[in-house]
Amino acid sequence: MDLVAGIDIGGTKTKIGLVAKNGDCLQQSFFRTQEFENFDDFLIRIKTEIEALEAKLDFPVNLIGCGIGAPNASSRNGTIENAANLKWKGSVPVLEKFKQHLDVPMRIMNDASAAALGEMLFGNAKNMNDFIVITLGTGLGAGIVANGKLIEGYDGFAGELGHIDMTLGDGRLTGLNVRGGLEAYVSATGLKRTVLYMLCKYMDESRFRDVAYNDLHGEDITKAAEEGDPIALKAFDYTAKIMGLALANFTAFTQPRAFFLMGGLVNSGKWILDPLQTYFEDYLLEVYKGKVKILTSGMEGKTAAICGAAALIWEEQN
Ligand code: BGC
Repeated sequence: MDLVAGIDIGGTKTKIGLVAKNGDCLQQSFFRTQEFENFDDFLIRIKTEIEALEAKLDFPVNLIGCGIGAPNASSRNGTIENAANLKWKGSVPVLEKFKQHLDVPMRIMNDASAAALGEMLFGNAKNMNDFIVITLGTGLGAGIVANGKLIEGYDGFAGELGHIDMTLGDGRLTGLNVRGGLEAYVSATGLKRTVLYMLCKYMDESRFRDVAYNDLHGEDITKAAEEGDPIALKAFDYTAKIMGLALANFTAFTQPRAFFLMGGLVNSGKWILDPLQTYFEDYLLEVYKGKVKILTSGMEGKTAAICGAAALIWEEQN
């Protein structure tokens, strides 16, 4: 059977799937991105994962290509450039290097743009001409679809909204050295940073008093909110407020009908989504009020970027 390998490179995890033409992801796996200092070793691991996934299927696979979604990727140059949350710095010629390990047609694009493509072709954004996918993982990514077209910009870097300064240069640093950049606040890692910040500020009775940053996980913050922990509740409210303002501002660029949220922070459910909805509606310009929805991804198993990246190859077959 003809299949495409769809790869979603993330700051924390790299996910790999074998995807059929109709968007079905038949096998999927992941490994931790940060295990690999050396980029070639990372590519070899991806190749090994693809082979292991192929072996799990009980029919022969004809791998017809490989589509990659990655942070700070340029679809035009085939590179990852100055990645904010990856170890490999400078300009990494991803496609050129990967072709030395795997001889199939390859394409790469920004991970959030790939997720938008996946959502548009196979998820909840089918038949929607104007929407923005916001990924909330290690960083914050944006995949923008306007008038039915994915907006990639001149060489693929459109939508770097995670590095927009929300504080007039007076806040936390992002991985691209932007002080006050959005993703330092609004992302799975931003939420953790906020919990630590709140702890310093309020020092009241919180279950997090003695927890180190690396031991703090999104699920713990959600659980703490469920138990009424004041720091967790304040942290979600603070994150939602900044995100509400950011999404309201983004609305003015292309007037999307919906924002689709995906990634780790979304797993906190109502704790983030309810206050976000309230702040967002408050901040929206009158002309947009009641017209823009905040939705979550319709892709099972969080595969939007995998399927979108794979679609880059499938589209070339047509
Ligand atoms: C990067 C984006 C990426 C996002 C999500 C940001 O730090 O600059 O390119 O889409 O993280 O991975």
